[in-house]
Amino acid sequence: MSKHFETQAIRKQTERTQYAEHSTPLYLTSSFVFEDAEDMRASFAEEKEKNLYSRFTNPNTTEFVNKMVAMEEAEAGYAFATGMAAVFSTFGALLEAGDHIVSCRSIFGSTHTLFTKYLPKWQIKTSYFKAIDSKKTIENQIQPNTKILYAETPTNPAVDILDLKLLGEIAKKHNLLLVIDNCFATPYLQNPIKFGADIVIHSATKLIDGQGRVLGGVVVGKKELLREIYLFSRNTGPTMSPFNAWIVSKSLETLAVRVEKHCKNAKKVAKFLEKHPKVSVVKYPFLKSHPQYKVAKKQMKLGGNIIAFEIKGGITAGKYFLNAIKLCSLSANLGDTRSIVTHPASTTHRKLSIEDRQEVGITDGLVRISVGLEHVKDIINDLNQALNE
Ligand SMILES: *Cc1c(COP(=O)(O)O)cnc(C)c1O
Repeated sequence: MSKHFETQAIRKQTERTQYAEHSTPLYLTSSFVFEDAEDMRASFAEEKEKNLYSRFTNPNTTEFVNKMVAMEEAEAGYAFATGMAAVFSTFGALLEAGDHIVSCRSIFGSTHTLFTKYLPKWQIKTSYFKAIDSKKTIENQIQPNTKILYAETPTNPAVDILDLKLLGEIAKKHNLLLVIDNCFATPYLQNPIKFGADIVIHSATKLIDGQGRVLGGVVVGKKELLREIYLFSRNTGPTMSPFNAWIVSKSLETLAVRVEKHCKNAKKVAKFLEKHPKVSVVKYPFLKSHPQYKVAKKQMKLGGNIIAFEIKGGITAGKYFLNAIKLCSLSANLGDTRSIVTHPASTTHRKLSIEDRQEVGITDGLVRISVGLEHVKDIINDLNQALNE
């Protein structure tokens, strides 16, 4: 990246039109016109780089993608309607019937459903490892037909850290594609490509939009792989709308300052929780008490905005705490300006058996906070009064 992160995020823009606008306008158009028959022929033959139809490309989605490619130091990218569209299209484009995936067990719920319910329709099976498993245990899951190694770090909701360098080495040794969902870290905190990732996926719905307004997703990575993902997507239609691209591209202009502040607030909240007598465990990547603190320090710029902590008293105490919360929102989203608390054992992960919950680190009293941008004293006061109820 020639220019710095913040500068790219702000100065990478679509070409200015004859109206000399300062800020990129919204290109709400489904299609584009051609000068003549030859222009149209050459454009369809991809001899020219031109927008044809907004299911393929649009100036707003291209601007957003170009920024993300620069931020992740990737070669190419494509923007999707949602994070899940990005995840599904990656597998849809890169896998054949009968291929195999090795994945960390602690992954986003819908991605897990994709692995267990839908990909098996094409005889694509998945084997799992735990976030804290050793190199050998991970390698033991690899089969002759394994094509993709998949993980998220930090994990949701237990905030474990996977060693990206280690995953990069395993992928290289066994000739696998390393696909990383980098949603929790954002490109500001962590660039998986530097550690050997071939593909990086984001849900733009989270910290990238950062204000809880629109859904979006993006995939960046190696050029030849993105070519397959692009062709798959232009024919199947999971494309991001120009409107959402316009929103999230503008959001990227403030990503660095927002994430910086999110992390600063989160570290203060984590330190407060660590001292509270009703809290038994706090997991935040940049606290020395985090089991993978050293790995986090190696691969992340700051600790992120998600904290997991354990309330003494299990499910009952967890529900009690949520009911006593006044300022923070009870919501399933994360990475918003508004702080959000969830209690996975009684909500998002209630259908899992106790053993399955334990496998992904969800204890009965586990609470997840997505720390927002309110004044940190108000966030701490709210948590404090709810813990003391
Ligand atoms: C939210 C999320 C997704 C899915 O993104 P949507 O935009 O909701 O489709 C995928 N991975 C992770 C880690 C997420 O947090």
